[in-house]
Amino acid sequence: TVYARGLRKCYGDRVVLGSIDLDVECGEIVCIIGPSGSGKSTLLRCIDGLEEVDRGILRVNGEDLGFVETETAYRARNRKEVAMQRTRIGMVFQQFNLFPNMTARENVMAGPVLVKGVAKKAAASRADSLLADVGLSGHGDHYPWQLSGGQKQRVAIARALAMDPNVMLFDEPTSALDPERVGEVLAVMKGLAGRGMTMLVATHEMGFAKEVADTVMFMDGGVVVEQGPPTEVLGNPKEARTQKFLEKVL
Ligand code: ATP
Ligand code: MG
Repeated sequence: TVYARGLRKCYGDRVVLGSIDLDVECGEIVCIIGPSGSGKSTLLRCIDGLEEVDRGILRVNGEDLGFVETETAYRARNRKEVAMQRTRIGMVFQQFNLFPNMTARENVMAGPVLVKGVAKKAAASRADSLLADVGLSGHGDHYPWQLSGGQKQRVAIARALAMDPNVMLFDEPTSALDPERVGEVLAVMKGLAGRGMTMLVATHEMGFAKEVADTVMFMDGGVVVEQGPPTEVLGNPKEARTQKFLEKVL
């Protein structure tokens, strides 16, 4: 579902992603861990098409999304294609990014109505059922300011799911939450994982990574230092940098 080779991203002179190779299979759960500034968000934003890749191959859902390196030149991606692609990728942010002037239901309906042209009535009933799936039935008329952080994040997940994505990207979805609200969001994510959703999750929740991930990827300084099953990367890390990081967070 996600295929990347030699992905490189710079901000000015600064190399933020060195040369990332990544394979995420359909139904696979990949957790990205690593210190602040290691490039986790940037990688997710590149995959979501929010950032342009400087070099390398990036394919999401079988279609080119990044610049494609040929022998002599880069082929710029087509913006319209990227916009189409983005509709099949769900992204959930640390800060929820809900539309503040819309109710929970309207937040969830917005994509299908505005992007896909779904009729409002159908979109509203689908939104209500998605809100029920994330444990928020009866909250459809609430505005973001009337919801707790955990509830807002579950609305954000429902909103992403409303577009029927092939892959869901989560960027530290629980980092902005009160500790007692973390569990309810992780539970929704576990449910999604159990239903076979392909997921790429940047997280500091080592328990979640250990329990749910098929693959854990440790990033540092814009490169993937180590990746493998959680039993290996978290349980028995080979690289000194991984060991050092885990000592700090566990
Ligand atoms: P965190 O755990 O704090 O979220 P991260 O692993 O997500 O960190 P990124 O946000 O991807 O890290 O940032 C990687 C590096 O790129 C950082 O050094 C950051 O300062 C830099 N960076 C990110 N966005 C920009 C930008 N728009 N312009 C310039 N530099 C940026
Ligand atoms: Mg980040």
